[in-house]
Amino acid sequence: MAIEISDKTINHEFIEKINQLSGQDIRLCFQCGTCGGACPMSENMQTLPRRIMRMLQFGMAHRIADVETGWECASCHSCTVSCPRGIDVARVMEAVRLLVLRKNINRIEPSRLPDGAVREMPQVALVSGFRKLTS
Ligand code: SF4
Ligand code: SF4
Repeated sequence: MAIEISDKTINHEFIEKINQLSGQDIRLCFQCGTCGGACPMSENMQTLPRRIMRMLQFGMAHRIADVETGWECASCHSCTVSCPRGIDVARVMEAVRLLVLRKNINRIEPSRLPDGAVREMPQVALVSGFRKLTS
């Protein structure tokens, strides 16, 4: 059964929130898919950045929470420099993560990391990981 999407069903408040958090206008995306083509993590993603952009444009807040793409993103900015519409897609991915982290939900719990991993991991990787994955 086709899903009917009308202006009344689009969550405009959610779209504005993403735009505010990212400093971007997600409505500019015209679905070319260049971001996914440039993404080094796309092989591991079930949902490519282009599709995330579409879900965001429709204000599908309920679906975004279940998608792993934001966490799989390596924040490399390849999508950002490739987007023909000048959208900083990496910042949009960050906004998607912030939606969860701002509810004080950590993606990883630092106290649960194995001792060995903490000892062997470069400090800079730990710090950037905590910045990205904890609230
Ligand atoms: S910033 Fe994230 S989504 Fe964009 S290309 Fe890099 S890994 Fe992919
Ligand atoms: S490259 Fe830019 S315009 Fe193209 S799908 Fe990605 S975000 Fe949209």
